[in-house]
Amino acid sequence: MPIFVPVRSHREFVDRLQRFGRDAAPPIPVWVGPRDDLAESLLLAENVYTGSAAPHPSEVGIFLGAGVSACVIDFLRPLARRWISPEQARRRLNEPGIDRSLLIVGLYESLSWRNVSSLLMASHDSPGLNLGFLTGRDQHSLQWMAAKQWATPAPEVVVAGLFSSVDSPTSNGNLQVYSENDFDTVDILPIVMERRWRSILFQGHGKDDSINLGEFTVCGRNPHVEGGKDQQYPRCGYGHPCYKDEAKLIPLRRVQAVEIVLSACNAGPMADLALYDPKYVLLLNAVDGCAQRIVASVSVHDSAEPENRHWLEHRKIGNAGCTKMLNESLRWEHPYPAFWHFGLPSREPIVHEDPLAISNEMRTVAERARAYLTSTLLSENDRLRLRLHKLSKKLSAFLTRDSRDKERRRPGVLSESIRADVQSIDHQIASRVLQNPEDPIMNYAAYFGDRALLDPDSVLSRECSCGYPAQEFRRCSLVSGDLSVICCYCLRCGDKSFRLPSSPIVTCRAADHIQPTEPLRISLEIECTQQGPVRIGVFVPPYLRPYSSVEPTMKRLKGAPDRTLSTQFELRFGSDAIPQAYYFTAFAVQNLAISTCRQHFGIRYPETNTRNGASG
Ligand SMILES: [Zn+2]
Ligand SMILES: [Zn+2]
Repeated sequence: MPIFVPVRSHREFVDRLQRFGRDAAPPIPVWVGPRDDLAESLLLAENVYTGSAAPHPSEVGIFLGAGVSACVIDFLRPLARRWISPEQARRRLNEPGIDRSLLIVGLYESLSWRNVSSLLMASHDSPGLNLGFLTGRDQHSLQWMAAKQWATPAPEVVVAGLFSSVDSPTSNGNLQVYSENDFDTVDILPIVMERRWRSILFQGHGKDDSINLGEFTVCGRNPHVEGGKDQQYPRCGYGHPCYKDEAKLIPLRRVQAVEIVLSACNAGPMADLALYDPKYVLLLNAVDGCAQRIVASVSVHDSAEPENRHWLEHRKIGNAGCTKMLNESLRWEHPYPAFWHFGLPSREPIVHEDPLAISNEMRTVAERARAYLTSTLLSENDRLRLRLHKLSKKLSAFLTRDSRDKERRRPGVLSESIRADVQSIDHQIASRVLQNPEDPIMNYAAYFGDRALLDPDSVLSRECSCGYPAQEFRRCSLVSGDLSVICCYCLRCGDKSFRLPSSPIVTCRAADHIQPTEPLRISLEIECTQQGPVRIGVFVPPYLRPYSSVEPTMKRLKGAPDRTLSTQFELRFGSDAIPQAYYFTAFAVQNLAISTCRQHFGIRYPETNTRNGASG
């Protein structure tokens, strides 16, 4: 017993309809009228469906526009529990959560921007609201699309196919992937046309009428239907050959798939926004074919690797639709839904997609690496440049949506290697500072501060470690490629500390003065706002270096947000260190930033033994 029976005459359809209405048993009558192509599709559909079952009706249904016979409307009636007017539906959309599924039925010409866009936006704004559209180029196509909702997919039709010219995930089990490389070497035409697909996704550059898969082209043209008058056709509509190899055209209508996902741009435009006559529109050609569910792009969108990963994963959880999932995945790419759903509304699990953001650490590291590279702080042949350049390239690759999605799925998969590079560069910077505290990179505060303006709103009063008030303020870079600098000036200590926004705050404590040969014990506190090891050291001005040493040379402590690290250093002096006022500078290197803090101290003789400049 066939699942569908083609019916040519209206009278016969009405008769068949009464019988079908009583027992809903196959064959399902399809009023193909004069449409031979639909009769062909009915036969093709027998390959992917196994029987019929009462569909799960939508909670609410609406009819848009006119041009549909009463018998077709009767046929559709069981597909929604309640039918209301489009005006009522629009009012209800503002009452959140009231209906979870809404079926919208109308000829393609009624799916205009005015009729459809508010519905699509409402669904995008309410996670639980699933829309399903039933449409067709005429009422025969529309009734055929509706009839397919009764069909049960054959249990042996399980394979999903992804044909993408932009992505190449790996095939496995019931997921078959063909990508750009395959399009050059494999004849995908018989693969697409002769196999039976539970779901098939086409992704490539495209327009209303075509999707490019290398030399192959998914074609929307239905040669059996008349084009409208005074409409725009593609070149083949004017008798010119196709712009692509015609032997490699994939007629979408003849693809044996239960579900078709058209993930190119503009594959399912709203009726009044379509570029070409409906005869050529991919969506309508899919409707004329055997798919009972079609997911089509509304307009332009950036669906790519992250959406494909979602889709491939989604294949494993059975028959749920993927429209809302795809739209949700793209929520942070554009402010409108990228796809709409044709067929009965599908009960999709409610998903909520966080933006694919990057950590504060990654952002600052990228900004700092770029600022060091593009500024003239470091000389052209500074050896640090090579490493920063490599890091910067890695970071640029990390910023893509594809990488951020991979990182979210497997945290550390990409960021770990960046972190390792950053630590290694941090070590190099800290070593350079210790070897030569006058290294050009230590000039960063003066360099970027010179190309900045004080932000009056940033001024804070702080108590300096010397006990006197100090002012902290930010010098904001004039252009976005430079770095802003946070400075702290004390009336007594002068330029007390410098750092970059989000880099550690270094404060130091030490005796105000010591006696000759007495060591100066320095206590440091390092307040961190970011994750990552901190390298810490202390140095003195050049004129004291020959007479002093610092213990230990460098320390490495684990920084974390809101963690304050404490550590000690000791400055030791030779007996030849001359008594006078000196200062030391403590520094911390984390995530490519250097924070410094400077403190004065004196070496003086004990008061009982003052040599007041008098000659011995
Ligand atoms: Zn063509
Ligand atoms: Zn001070």
